[in-house]
Amino acid sequence: MKIDNKLFREHLFDLRPACGTILLVVKMNTLEKLLILADGAKYDVSCASSGVNKSNKGGLGNAKAYGICHTWSADGRCISLLKILLTNYCIYNCAYCVNRNQNDIPRASFTPREVAELTIQFYRRNYIEGLFLSSAVERNPNHTMEKIYQTLAILRNEFHFHGYIHVKVIPGADPALIQKIGHLADRMSVNIEQPSEESLKLLAPQKSMQALLLPMKQISQQIMVNSAERKISRHVPKFVPGGQSTQMIIGASNDSDLAILKTTETLYEKFHLKRVYYSAYVPVNEGPNLPALSSAPPLLREHRLYQADWLLRYYKFKADEIVSRDFPKLETDVDPKIAWALRNIHFFPKEINKASYEELLRIPGIGVTSALRIIRQRRLAPVSYDHLGKMGVVLKRAKYFITCQGRYYGGIPIDAHLIRRALVSPEPHAIQLTLF
Ligand code: SF4
Repeated sequence: MKIDNKLFREHLFDLRPACGTILLVVKMNTLEKLLILADGAKYDVSCASSGVNKSNKGGLGNAKAYGICHTWSADGRCISLLKILLTNYCIYNCAYCVNRNQNDIPRASFTPREVAELTIQFYRRNYIEGLFLSSAVERNPNHTMEKIYQTLAILRNEFHFHGYIHVKVIPGADPALIQKIGHLADRMSVNIEQPSEESLKLLAPQKSMQALLLPMKQISQQIMVNSAERKISRHVPKFVPGGQSTQMIIGASNDSDLAILKTTETLYEKFHLKRVYYSAYVPVNEGPNLPALSSAPPLLREHRLYQADWLLRYYKFKADEIVSRDFPKLETDVDPKIAWALRNIHFFPKEINKASYEELLRIPGIGVTSALRIIRQRRLAPVSYDHLGKMGVVLKRAKYFITCQGRYYGGIPIDAHLIRRALVSPEPHAIQLTLF
């Protein structure tokens, strides 16, 4: 494989030739592996890659498309992570995956020490604050998870690295191994990939829903046990303190939004997942059960699923309120909350000064924070329409669904068809003017 020497000089370590050629060869191999394995990890969206190349031309800072991605901590901070695969050698043949066994692609495999040293080197240069380590299945699940364990053990016990670490769990691995890793990692995730057993059979026949859910169940139970034990003694070592997450690929199979959101809801309820991530399928393989290579990733659908997911987690919606047998697809022209409001127009208008917290949350344009502000303000004095904007309410959406001190500000009748038209027609200021 051809090495990009400029890239090497600019972005890997400051090698001094004191150790001669051997050291150089070792580092070049590491770069080759890094290019292959960072590229292989880019389809995992549990955290979003920076995805851009920008060189520094006299300004401050630069970016590389590979390797560094971002995630958000519980307190809202953005954290940069080194995002790589431990290996892209895989014994499985999932139809949708670029790393599947039958694909003729450059392959590489890091040793645990290489990953640990890369992490520390990147950390020392202030490129990253943590590690996102995923992997294909090399030889068997236990072999791969053992290598992941060794990587974390070197990082935590030898280098005393206390930064954030997110690791993938390979279903089928020994539960004892998963438990050991859980005491070293901040977050773990088992990728469910497809929302239904049927899709797994069609696209990833070597996997089964039951095998995927088993480690999720184990992690969920051990998190609960650990938190109970830590209430008794703070000396009990933490187990996956950042919780667990998963990823679903959207658009590789024919599963409806209803099926996807039902599975999501079950995962949140049964296994208390922190997040379900959705990844619009990027066609990388040809196959009779896959979308054509020329088809575009369903990015708008992915976006709507994230909005619907938000409603499940923070707005107390149920999956079958957002989509149902009658409406199995999320609408594209309006977000899922507006779509629900338009289907339930009899619920509106709601009087801002009387609606309960739960009712306020159902109003498009009112979020969790603005609903709480309204409730707090109402205890002191009635809320006026002018106050609402200052409280964070998005009036261009909310005005069609509320009254404030008995007055309606929508300007059109409360009719689902008319409100939809008003909401989807472009704002006058959004029209792009031409120069000529
Ligand atoms: S097991 Fe993972 S890496 Fe291997 S083919 Fe399936 S999705 Fe790809």
